[in-house]
Amino acid sequence: MKGMVTTQILEVDPSAIAAEIIYRAADVIQAGGLVAFPTETVYGLGANALNAIAVRRIFTAKDRPAHDPLIVHLASSQGLPGVVATVPDVAWRLAEHFWPGPLTLVLPRASVIPDEVTAGGPTVAVRVPAHPVAQALLEASGVPIAAPSANRFGRLSPTRASDVLADLAGRVEIILDAGATFVGVESTVLSLVEDPPVILRPGGVSRESLMTILGNVSVREHERLPVQRSPGMLDQHYAPRARLILFRGEHTAVLQAIQREAERFDKAQQRVGVLVATEDLAAFEGRPWMALAPGPFTDLDMVAHRLFTTLRALDAAGVDVILARDFGAAGLGLAIRDRLTRAAGGQIITA
Ligand code: AMP
Ligand code: MG
Repeated sequence: MKGMVTTQILEVDPSAIAAEIIYRAADVIQAGGLVAFPTETVYGLGANALNAIAVRRIFTAKDRPAHDPLIVHLASSQGLPGVVATVPDVAWRLAEHFWPGPLTLVLPRASVIPDEVTAGGPTVAVRVPAHPVAQALLEASGVPIAAPSANRFGRLSPTRASDVLADLAGRVEIILDAGATFVGVESTVLSLVEDPPVILRPGGVSRESLMTILGNVSVREHERLPVQRSPGMLDQHYAPRARLILFRGEHTAVLQAIQREAERFDKAQQRVGVLVATEDLAAFEGRPWMALAPGPFTDLDMVAHRLFTTLRALDAAGVDVILARDFGAAGLGLAIRDRLTRAAGGQIITA
């Protein structure tokens, strides 16, 4: 790729942030460069959202198609009127409850936002991230920062600086390394240009908690979409290298179906990986396949937090196929189901 740069990894302790490191990164943002930084969800690949040329570099670095719009990150909700055309009351109420946090609001764009950010569309996606390093960078930069996840297009989102480096070495000036992110799945993308509001992508803020503020919230089912509405909705997004099959249905039946399929793949000389809940692991003991659990079914926060790392671990172990269980639709279960469904690219077995 032309325009290769030297990538510097700068460690930042999130509980004692070194100002000189943040200012170095902010200088890069102001000069139109790229900085990968941790948010509470995943690592983002950031550029000055008001600089079209800088934003174009994000697409080049990620190999991301230009029709895929970016999320604009703000230091606080006070920046909202600067990036959207109008702020409805409901946006202020949501901001008060969920910002800083993993909720992205889609609103009519302000004219200062370049087409590169919105993919030429009339709306812009905005959020205030809760990670102290992201907040320090936004404050020091003094501009809104457009940032998609810091991975090559179609790959798993990065939850550690080493994941970013693996995908983007030579394509980003600075990676701020503050260790693992907290939530581990991306933000919930909520469209406020429709009434009632619609979840375009389930994520770190659950539908149930949005309903406490909004009353009614619908979820756009990506399987049923006639056209792509939000890039996260593309099939085969957030995908591990191995083929993934998702098993849905009654719990015991699901575990039995996974066992059966694992045996079938094993006979066909395929290396099998299994992704289940911690409680399910006993059922796979003494078997030749690699069973991993991101966390217990009773702690979906942990399952979400470790979902991508677990998929990466199965990839790293060199499995050919990953058999994954569903974690339901309650709370973060919806976001987990969404990511596993995309990783499966349509290969879903109902037990
Ligand atoms: P990424 O940051 O790469 O994980 O993806 C950003 C997500 O925000 C994608 O799912 C986009 O579709 C969504 N998004 C960004 N801007 C908009 C917008 N204007 N309308 C709808 N969805 C958007
Ligand atoms: Mg992404």
